[in-house]
Amino acid sequence: MPDTLPPCPECSSQYTYEMDALLLCPECAHEWNAEVEETEAAEVVIKDAVGNVLQDGDTVSITKTMKVKGAQSALKVGTKIRNIRLVQGSGDHDIAAKVDGFGQMELKSSIVKKI
Ligand SMILES: [Zn+2]
Repeated sequence: MPDTLPPCPECSSQYTYEMDALLLCPECAHEWNAEVEETEAAEVVIKDAVGNVLQDGDTVSITKTMKVKGAQSALKVGTKIRNIRLVQGSGDHDIAAKVDGFGQMELKSSIVKKI
């Protein structure tokens, strides 16, 4: 969630406040769902380490050696990952893919480069 709440879409009041999943405007009493407004307003663009826009099905390579929890070895620079899927994973993990030797895992777009 952003620190600052968006202004009221009805009257542009800056004094909006949150109640549960809703945003409320004290000036015109408008109520709306912040989550829905956000996903409708902004298309999520996921970019790799050098700024290429990533899409489902892309092949990428790892740009930074990464330790993998529970795995014997680290994920090394240059490891190719085929057929990525863009997801809203845990934390800032935004890619899901099957990685040879590691299985299905979540990755951060900031450590991959589109091939
Ligand atoms: Zn309002």
